Amino acid sequence: MIRKTIIVVLTVLAVGTLLLWAVALPWTLVYQNQGNDTGIHRGVLFAYWGMPWTVKGWYFSRASTAGLTHVSIWWPMITQTGGFSSRLSGVFVPLFWVALLTGIYPTIACIRGPLRRWRRRRKGLCLNCGYDLTGNESGVCPECGEAV
Ligand SMILES: [Zn+2]
Repeated sequence: MIRKTIIVVLTVLAVGTLLLWAVALPWTLVYQNQGNDTGIHRGVLFAYWGMPWTVKGWYFSRASTAGLTHVSIWWPMITQTGGFSSRLSGVFVPLFWVALLTGIYPTIACIRGPLRRWRRRRKGLCLNCGYDLTGNESGVCPECGEAV
């Protein structure tokens, strides 16, 4: 029950972030708060702080770099933005990584069952419990009672 819930939640997260990533690829949406910026830029979630400007408010544009030098980031990173001050830092998380990580477990869970059944059928084992049915002619698994 809990396992099913986790799989459903992870699947929704994976599909949701994947869609958001695809939709957000050509866009930049930033909330700027006096040098602390949070937003999404070409599918990358980011937050950076300590910028030397005092702008406050939303910034939205199409295919703009919005002052970000990291145009394409392929893995999550923590960075010093540099150029302004040595203390500047930022966190960048590409959304497709979130989709990938949250999608791994549901994918494995979905293919594990059929894969196990395929392997058992190939080896002549009971599909239900894996008992070796070599030479069995009763039509019923002696271990678990499953019809074969
Ligand atoms: Zn069996």
